[in-house]
Amino acid sequence: MSISRRSFIASAAALPLAANSPALKIVVAGGHPGDPECGCGGTIARYADLGHEVVLLYLNRGEGFCGGASLDRCGAIRTAEAQTACRSLKARAVFAGQYDGRAVVDTPHYESFARLLTGENPAVVFTQWPIDRHRDHRAISMLTLDAWWKAGRRFALYYYEVAEDTTMFSPTEYVDISTVEARRHAACYAHASQEPGKWYPKQVEIARRRGAEGGFTQAEAFLRHPESKRAVLP
Ligand SMILES: [Zn+2]
Repeated sequence: MSISRRSFIASAAALPLAANSPALKIVVAGGHPGDPECGCGGTIARYADLGHEVVLLYLNRGEGFCGGASLDRCGAIRTAEAQTACRSLKARAVFAGQYDGRAVVDTPHYESFARLLTGENPAVVFTQWPIDRHRDHRAISMLTLDAWWKAGRRFALYYYEVAEDTTMFSPTEYVDISTVEARRHAACYAHASQEPGKWYPKQVEIARRRGAEGGFTQAEAFLRHPESKRAVLP
């Protein structure tokens, strides 16, 4: 990386989050149990360690797939996995009540999702990238964006990436996750029904590549909505 690129990143970086800054509410929205943990697990752990409150807001309970178990058990199995992942990140799970693979984006769902999200009164919201491969990721991205505009852009809005699903993502802000990588690993492996051994190594590859871009061993990288205020990143 050239020096000019490094100094560009340094100047573009958000204000560092001091350990004594007031507690913030952070919401990380994801299509499925596992998406927030996969894309932002290290950042979530760092926020929580600084005393901030983090909510993982899942669009559904992963009813569509849970390995070898029968489909009617998937919602319960994956809810339990999400709760375990949240415990390891010191976060709280919230479910938006949609069904895995059948995301609905219409007026009543825009309204109910906006009530749920703004009801948390977040300072910062992370959501999925609007041209991810999975429909549920695109759905939560639209629902979050709409709620943000409806709320007068009063919270900061950032996008995150996940292995295999995110396309054409050019992040601008980097969070060093080198010291908390084990926590992210634990949160992702809590989703045992999703066979994390198959996809977690790809997420590590991404974190190493983002680390190289941002000047860290491993990093998670984000794109701020151009009309969003700057967040205080950990
Ligand atoms: Zn997903």
